[in-house]
Amino acid sequence: MKNSTQKIKPVGYNVDLKYQCPHCGSDHWITQQEAKTTGFRIVCCNKQMVIEPVHKFTLDVVFKSQLNTPTQTVVQAQVTDSLKNGREALNKLIKLGFEGVKYQTLALTLSQQGDDVETIMRKCIAHE
Ligand SMILES: [Zn+2]
Repeated sequence: MKNSTQKIKPVGYNVDLKYQCPHCGSDHWITQQEAKTTGFRIVCCNKQMVIEPVHKFTLDVVFKSQLNTPTQTVVQAQVTDSLKNGREALNKLIKLGFEGVKYQTLALTLSQQGDDVETIMRKCIAHE
């Protein structure tokens, strides 16, 4: 008899939520049920803070067997790509004798906005 070990998947989950005291930065963990309670208060630094009540949670469970699915690869590729143009533009600017560091933030921001290498270079130089 093969496959005698049955694979099962979760049917529910338990989530605790972390809030942070804006005064001292302390962490406060509350349960899902508490987070859904309108008017739930957290007390810290002698102050009462009321939480914004949560309506519902969504949790994405990714099984190991799903790893390397196209979706995940695409997301990762997009993140890398979004900075790629910025880096390339910076390299070219440096080769052209510009002080790359000065344009770093601008170049990477423009890159994330979807500008291509030429546009990023043009905007960096115009920014001067
Ligand atoms: Zn506090």
